[in-house]
Amino acid sequence: NLVFVAKESVVEETRVAASVETAKKMRSLGFDVVVEAGAGVLSRIPDAEYEAAGARIGSIKEAKAADVVLKVRRPTTKEIAGYKSGAIIIAIMDPYGNEAALAEMARRGLTSFAVELMPRITRAQSMDVLSSQANLAGYQAVIEAAAVYDRALPMMMTAAGTVPAAKVFVMGAGVAGLQAIATARRLGAQVSATDVRPAAKEQVASLGAKFVAVEDEEFKAAETAGGYAKEMSKEYQAKQAVLVADHIAKQDIIITTALIPGRPAPRLVSRDMLKAMRPGAVAVDLAVERGGNIEGAEYGKVAEVEGVRVVGYPNMAGRIAASASALYAKNLVTFLETMVDKDTKSLAVNRTDELIKATMLTDGGEVVNPNFVDPDQ
Ligand code: NAD
Repeated sequence: NLVFVAKESVVEETRVAASVETAKKMRSLGFDVVVEAGAGVLSRIPDAEYEAAGARIGSIKEAKAADVVLKVRRPTTKEIAGYKSGAIIIAIMDPYGNEAALAEMARRGLTSFAVELMPRITRAQSMDVLSSQANLAGYQAVIEAAAVYDRALPMMMTAAGTVPAAKVFVMGAGVAGLQAIATARRLGAQVSATDVRPAAKEQVASLGAKFVAVEDEEFKAAETAGGYAKEMSKEYQAKQAVLVADHIAKQDIIITTALIPGRPAPRLVSRDMLKAMRPGAVAVDLAVERGGNIEGAEYGKVAEVEGVRVVGYPNMAGRIAASASALYAKNLVTFLETMVDKDTKSLAVNRTDELIKATMLTDGGEVVNPNFVDPDQ
């Protein structure tokens, strides 16, 4: 069986779907591995290193022979046309709102998987791309904030005087937020955080940060069975805004990470809140790809909003591509391994496995994922 590791065609995408380690692993699983020339360059993996790991370097034309194609982003229409019918395609498919692309993959007979739909159960932890990438994004958000900020983060007592510790406020304490808290703490900042899920309170405290939230009856019930946040009521949002406005006025850096599955990101920070911040304040909006948590945040830019520099970089994990690719590649190969029969070393997709069922988008010429099946057909 042949695995093709594609070079990403979207210019902003710096990551790659295989590392040297995973290329070796795929060889040991019995695959021939072809890596598209230059695929790893932006993640600092030269072609020669893949070759040394037993892979072959090839052109995009070789995708036609592949039984499995590994990618970071969903393939374009042109790329889809270059794959053979029946091929397995694994990537971050971003399926919501992209039903036409799913239909195209189905029409071409591809068996496609959206790795970001992986259930968050213990068995699948090592395949959880949302966590592996969000963790790095949370770290990098603090690094980007520190780079823009004109003051030092830690308190420094020197002969020439004392620099006070920066006050950092993290909004949304999921995977990215918790790593942002830990990173800001490591840099010596004074850190506080908020979330609407009660479970976050203890996690924030265990990292040594202060928890700030409206803890009413709605808060106590804000976590869904899946561990995600619900969209909060207008009343709760109003109470939260009052509390947060007071708090934000005293902060130097805010980092927002709040998301609600399948919904636009909640708007947590208004222009008025930014206006109340100190001169030189910095904000990072990690939710910018989903509409943003901060009013005035601009996709791909550092925007000046009411005197606050608001960082709106998409693909934050991709800004540390070498680390992001290493973890993403590992997530993918671990998932691919579940599709290989150990004895015969042949591909054997178990369509009753819950990981397969949750992530499979198209198969046998049809869109099969219940979340995306067209009700009119
Ligand atoms: P996410 O990316 O969907 O959202 C980020 C955070 O924003 C969440 O903590 C959410 O509660 C918060 N948020 C949403 N609306 C908000 C609002 N209005 N105000 C403030 N905060 C708001 O979340 P995530 O990082 O993917 O984590 C979601 C859950 O999944 C967590 O409970 C996490 O512990 C859990 N998880 C479990 C596993 C596993 O078991 N394998 C792995 C990763 C994450």
